[in-house]
Amino acid sequence: MRQLTYLKPGALRWDEVPEPSLKDSTSALVRPFVVARCDLDAVFLRHNVARTLRLGRLLHQVDPSVADTVGTDYLRGPFPMGHECVAEVLEVGADVHGFSRGDRVVVPFQISCGTCPMCTRSLTSQCETHGSFDMFGGIGRDTARGGMLSDVVLVPQAQRMLIPVPASLDPLDLASASDNLPDAWSRVAPELLGSPGKDVLVLGGSARSISLYCVAFAVAMQASRVDYSDRNSERCAIASNLGATIVEAPVAATSRRYDLVVNGSSRRSAIAESIRCLRPGGVCTSMSIYFNKSVPVPFFQLYAKNLTLKTGLANPMADIPPMLQFIEEHRVDVGAVTSRLAEWNQAPEALLDDTTKVVIHRPPMFRREL
Ligand SMILES: [Zn+2]
Ligand SMILES: [Zn+2]
Repeated sequence: MRQLTYLKPGALRWDEVPEPSLKDSTSALVRPFVVARCDLDAVFLRHNVARTLRLGRLLHQVDPSVADTVGTDYLRGPFPMGHECVAEVLEVGADVHGFSRGDRVVVPFQISCGTCPMCTRSLTSQCETHGSFDMFGGIGRDTARGGMLSDVVLVPQAQRMLIPVPASLDPLDLASASDNLPDAWSRVAPELLGSPGKDVLVLGGSARSISLYCVAFAVAMQASRVDYSDRNSERCAIASNLGATIVEAPVAATSRRYDLVVNGSSRRSAIAESIRCLRPGGVCTSMSIYFNKSVPVPFFQLYAKNLTLKTGLANPMADIPPMLQFIEEHRVDVGAVTSRLAEWNQAPEALLDDTTKVVIHRPPMFRREL
């Protein structure tokens, strides 16, 4: 089969590789037809993350536990590209029920079993069967499963890893439903769902599309105010279009106070700036991955204002179903975040585009019964 392989920053190649096959009764084979570039892809497609981490370790600037957690060759090619997709089901094992050939599904980027103690607590990122970093597309190491830009992808634990796409939703809008969309959902839903009227600040940056999905969800969850701060004009225009007010001044200088600050920037000072902007009882939630040995946290302010600081991996398997239901019920325009739509064959060039959100697509293989 044909597969797009990541070699190194700036270098992708179409390869002919063996097609994965069903090796057990609990897996499935799917054919991705809508694929998104994850915000983390956008980093390692342009920067040598593996080398930066190696250097950082030598200079004692990187948390030593990073190597234990993700290994010493994290994001070093070659590996199959892509871990966000909407796919069609090709074949399921004998113990996978309720799916037919041609069904449209979202596949979470992390492999989780859905049944262990961590998964049943909705902490599917900490699955005891698969571990925290068993993922598609280069982050995990099982490259034989394929990536989302492969013709066929092997999905383990398929009974729970295949999540049906609601028929009324456009797969193009859900291109990031494997990862970036539920990541955004997990940052805002616990604070805003069922609690309208809150003031929210989103700091954009390295989490280029996730921050904007946060804006879309916060507006749909009836936050009374959604402010957005970012130096990038394209992302500011998208945020404004989604209903956010753009903060022109540096966040460090703002006198406004918020109930929720979502940090999607990778600046080391962003956590301290976020905490300073919170009113008493507020929550700072950070989705950025800090590999740094330490990040400044003004601990006294956390104490004095009864604040909460949250971070952590997304838990897509747990969050995708309620998120899809919310998007469907509230007609959230998450597709507005896509800044470049490209044909399948254009993927190597489109993925390197320094834009907000790249979505790649090809015609589905199966006709849908309407
Ligand atoms: Zn991702
Ligand atoms: Zn599990």
